[in-house]
Amino acid sequence: MRVREIQVPASRVRGVGPATAKLLANLGILTVGDLLSWWPREWDDRTVRTFFSSWSESAKINVLAKVTAHEWFGYGRMKTLKLIVEDAEGTEAELVCFNRPFLERLYPPETEIAVNGRFQPKYGRLQSSAFDIEAAEDAPAKVLPVYSLTAGIAQTQMRKIIAAALEEYGRGIDSELPEKVRKSEGLPEKAAILRTMHAPASMQEAEAARDALIFEELFFFQYAVGKGSLKRRGRLPAVDSGSAETGSEDGKPNSGEAAGAREEAPLSPLQKHLLERIPFSLTPDQRSVADEINRDLDSGLTMARLLQGDVGSGKTLIAFLACLRVIDSGGQCAFLAPTELLARQHAENAARLLESTGVRIAFLTGNVKAEGRTNVLSRLASGEIDLVIGTHALFSESVKYRNLALAVVDEQHRFGVLQRSAILAKGPGAAAGKETHLIMMSATPIPRTLALSVFGDLDVSVIKTMPPGRKPIVTHLARQGNEQKVYDFVRRELSLGHQAYFVYPLIDQNDALDLKSAERMHERLSREVFPEYGAELIHSRIPEDEQRRIMESFRLGKTGILVATSLVEVGVDVANATCMVIEHAERFGLSALHQLRGRVGRGDLQSWCFLVYSGNLTEEGKARMKIMHETTDGFRIAEEDLVIRGPGEIAGIKQSGYAGFDLADPVRDMKILEKARAAAFALLLEENRVS
Ligand code: ADP
Ligand code: MG
Repeated sequence: MRVREIQVPASRVRGVGPATAKLLANLGILTVGDLLSWWPREWDDRTVRTFFSSWSESAKINVLAKVTAHEWFGYGRMKTLKLIVEDAEGTEAELVCFNRPFLERLYPPETEIAVNGRFQPKYGRLQSSAFDIEAAEDAPAKVLPVYSLTAGIAQTQMRKIIAAALEEYGRGIDSELPEKVRKSEGLPEKAAILRTMHAPASMQEAEAARDALIFEELFFFQYAVGKGSLKRRGRLPAVDSGSAETGSEDGKPNSGEAAGAREEAPLSPLQKHLLERIPFSLTPDQRSVADEINRDLDSGLTMARLLQGDVGSGKTLIAFLACLRVIDSGGQCAFLAPTELLARQHAENAARLLESTGVRIAFLTGNVKAEGRTNVLSRLASGEIDLVIGTHALFSESVKYRNLALAVVDEQHRFGVLQRSAILAKGPGAAAGKETHLIMMSATPIPRTLALSVFGDLDVSVIKTMPPGRKPIVTHLARQGNEQKVYDFVRRELSLGHQAYFVYPLIDQNDALDLKSAERMHERLSREVFPEYGAELIHSRIPEDEQRRIMESFRLGKTGILVATSLVEVGVDVANATCMVIEHAERFGLSALHQLRGRVGRGDLQSWCFLVYSGNLTEEGKARMKIMHETTDGFRIAEEDLVIRGPGEIAGIKQSGYAGFDLADPVRDMKILEKARAAAFALLLEENRVS
């Protein structure tokens, strides 16, 4: 029997009366199976004893000490006992016994005790009010499980209950992993894991048992991922993908088959037309990614591909090429961008590139009003539009497609992962027996561990190399107060006919925050600092028509300086802009800084990024500035970001159920994740060969 299958009510366990059973039910513990798989949240390692002098605010310590005196404070019913204790080094500490007056009799002066708790100095003496105490002779050195609790159940009681359950029901529990996998991974049987989790002999043993459970959890997750992929696409997602330094072994940009060895799929007529119109040729990475996509589209199975490439690597063109192949074979395409500004830019690009091809393009955002909107909707529904470009309005309830064959999501990290299903639901659906192809593009490189877990069912293509002629952007840090030097530098660039961005964290002045705002700095920069060059202001509160005019004028080089908020973080593409000045840079997250910096260095001109930071940086702020200064490698920045912020904030996965594992944390447990994935896929392949 598997542990979760033990349906005996928890109330049968020794020490669990009706009242306790109710409290356990609050935790979702109803059966003995639930109880046995109530894993310790951590262990308290009492095999390591130390002295009071090694206290820290963050960790509990175990100390052997002697009670030297009793003191009382407060009056009447509020009277509280303090045990004064001293360890072998002679350090004194006080144990404040709130609601525990009975400790007076249990631990009279001269008693040797073992205490476990978190200590902090107060009024000149170390103090703890949340501590465990035992007589030293009753306290053998051991590792104790620490469980999550609910009000009314104490830690010691929970330990007793689970120990009793283990003793009565802990035998004859089956392992869940297939025996073959378990043995080849060298993992203990489930029954042994259970015993070790709840009553380990050492910390190492406890951690090994937990790793075995994590493996199990990730194995079944990856097994499900692989199975889904087999069903949808007839094959497993590439095992090894998603990270710059660990691409496929042959060093080719993309995983899977060796791209160089095979012939490229022939281009479709519209694809040919587009490639003839652009004034450059595709980079080798772009070519091989385009070819991968072409093969996917021709395969008769549904494509689900994550296209990664650092800012400026040329993903948009690849997405357009994919659309054109689909349009050539009679399907509709939807191209989703996170901001109106970017959607507009893509639409204008598409219109320019596809002029005279007969491809019918439409633009749709929440701001497209009444008549125009009705018109676009009806033409989408009737199939008179081939390519629609817009914001999330593309996938709102009222939008119907005749034959949506491909959805492209640009800057996918701006959208929640869950939106994926909303997008795919717009396709022709099960009725036509076909799902919508999906390309998700990301310039915030997705660390390998996320690529394997959250995006584990996607194939990953990576564009690693930049178009030729790009010069690495030089990043300078400047402390606030020295911005005059930065301005002087920018003036030199402007005088050469180049352009500059100035980015601020706020639109308008907020006196409480004491930050420079885009509005005020626009005034200052245009009137006092650079009166000889035009400066325009852009942010999300400026009407859309006006935003358009401003961008167009900047794109044409009529405006020297664009003062902005992080609105310009995504997509904006002006190769003549060589300076990015970000003031109050410490206010921006790493991925925003990286994206903003990516607005320059988009042509063959040398470009600069200036991060102006305020004097009193937090540790985190310092770390961010340092990384930005050290590297322009988006993958490294993303990995660091992951370390600084934790996985929940990254890549739009906050609401994705990413953290939905019981014990596993794919970031911390990346090594186990990789092993589990390899084992799960190996098993799937074997099963499939047999059937
Ligand atoms: P991102 O990957 O950040 O979305 P874009 O698709 O916006 O990058 O491309 C950045 C710029 O590089 C655009 O101006 C685009 O026209 C240009 N570009 C794309 N591919 C190439 C290429 N092979 N050679 C030269 N320039 C290119
Ligand atoms: Mg882009």
